[in-house]
Amino acid sequence: MSAAQQTIHVGGEWRASLSGDARRIIDPADATAFAVVAEGGVRDTDDAVAAARAAFDAGAWPRTPVAERAALLRRVADRLERDRERIGALESRDAGKTLEEGRTDVDCVRDAFRYFADLVEKESAERVVDAGSPDVHSVVVHEPVGVCALITPWNYPLLQASWKIAPALAAGNTFVIKPSELTPLSTVALVELLLEAGLPLGAANIVTGPGHTVGARLAEHPDVDLVSFTGGLASGTKVARAAAGSVKKVALELGGKNPNIVFADACATPEGFDTAVDQALNAAFIHSGQVCSAGSRLIIEEPLRDRFVAELSRRARLIRLGRGTDPGVECGPLVSAAQRERTEEYVASALAEGAVLRAGGSRPDGPGFFYRPTVLDRCHRGMRVVREEVFGPVLTVETFRTEEEAVALGNDTEYGLAGAVWTADAERAGRVAGLLRHGTVWINDFHPYLPQAEWGGFGKSGIGRELGPTGLAEYREAKHVYRNLAPRPVRWFAGGRHD
Ligand code: NAD
Repeated sequence: MSAAQQTIHVGGEWRASLSGDARRIIDPADATAFAVVAEGGVRDTDDAVAAARAAFDAGAWPRTPVAERAALLRRVADRLERDRERIGALESRDAGKTLEEGRTDVDCVRDAFRYFADLVEKESAERVVDAGSPDVHSVVVHEPVGVCALITPWNYPLLQASWKIAPALAAGNTFVIKPSELTPLSTVALVELLLEAGLPLGAANIVTGPGHTVGARLAEHPDVDLVSFTGGLASGTKVARAAAGSVKKVALELGGKNPNIVFADACATPEGFDTAVDQALNAAFIHSGQVCSAGSRLIIEEPLRDRFVAELSRRARLIRLGRGTDPGVECGPLVSAAQRERTEEYVASALAEGAVLRAGGSRPDGPGFFYRPTVLDRCHRGMRVVREEVFGPVLTVETFRTEEEAVALGNDTEYGLAGAVWTADAERAGRVAGLLRHGTVWINDFHPYLPQAEWGGFGKSGIGRELGPTGLAEYREAKHVYRNLAPRPVRWFAGGRHD
């Protein structure tokens, strides 16, 4: 990137937007601008798609042997390790997360590149199919889908980008990525690393710009073969509609309203109680709750409620807010003024509907988009705050009396991304995990994910999976090649016979 506003990369060239428009990038910790990026539009998007199309059709990357593609992904991983501090700090400032979270994100991105490098080498052999005849040789091979449009959100800008870019490149595709207009900087840095690692020009393109222009154009573009979107339900629905016109492949990673179910037996010992409270805090408040899998619904066995909520609220009030790079800070701000207002509206609506405020519920003094970690007790499914994704530091508390009721509450959501069950009873844990309709279920834990395991949602949490073998399969077309070694007429049509 040669100048501050040249954040669009098309066919090997960094440039400003064709319109000349630019956007200031805001540091959410103090609401001041600290960078300027190009504000791309439809024409920039069309150029980027044309570059990705030309690169795909020319074949340099799609026909690069798998071992070389994997080697490139590993070089990217090595460079991420080299630049961990720089990119981690950039992510921390742009998205408002702690520096430690920024660094951890870079490590996870590195691991995703290494995982897909290993996987594509392991899974690229053709599969021989038994056709039931010695005269037939039948194989299934995997080919890249083509030009991929990758659209990502602001909460984990780099991580979400890597879950798409690494498998897309491993499979031999070319792509255009559109990061969130709020947090584009780390994705620009990642594209720079791809180029430095030797990716052929045109294989990686980026257009920084808004969703309603750049994103919408990518979704509908007839030369795009696949659109992979991570973001909110409302935008995801629009993407699916726009993509339908050209029947492209669609993958959607959308929101969640994730239950954290705690049985009293998990808290029978002081250590068990401490762990469950600590993890409930982590589930709800890490990155100020701006996590698709945030455990924003605490569903707790009735007799345990008062003790648990009292301790949880006490600790929530002690969470240290501040700029993510300042020492000792545990939670950063929300990403924008709009996101904080949205959070405030949800809390106000919950209180109006009868919720009881146990912690937070207000902004601290000072600049930046901070909001205090908030615990809302006495909640129920009739409340908007329990049904809809807040995407802020707000935890609601519901109670149950039976295992059946716990499962019913856990599944009573239009989403189905993730959920957890806390219990000392292994059989119960297995039963509940089996009944929860969510893409990930944690037992006595919250939040860990593995690059080797599929990530994605049931219900309105999305279509398709990222990570794991399925996360690679999304970026491949299966092709059956059937070779007849002894061709003969089939004689289906009598008129063709020469007796
Ligand atoms: P968002 O839907 O507002 O934006 C996501 C991306 O889509 C952005 O790049 C945006 O510019 C773009 N966009 C917006 N409108 C578009 C349109 N009409 N066509 C094409 N693109 C469009 O979401 P957000 O606020 O950036 O992110 C928060 C949401 O992302 C939450 O709902 C969260 O749960 C979800 N999320 C899900 C996962 C997951 O793995 N399931 C991971 C992270 C975030």
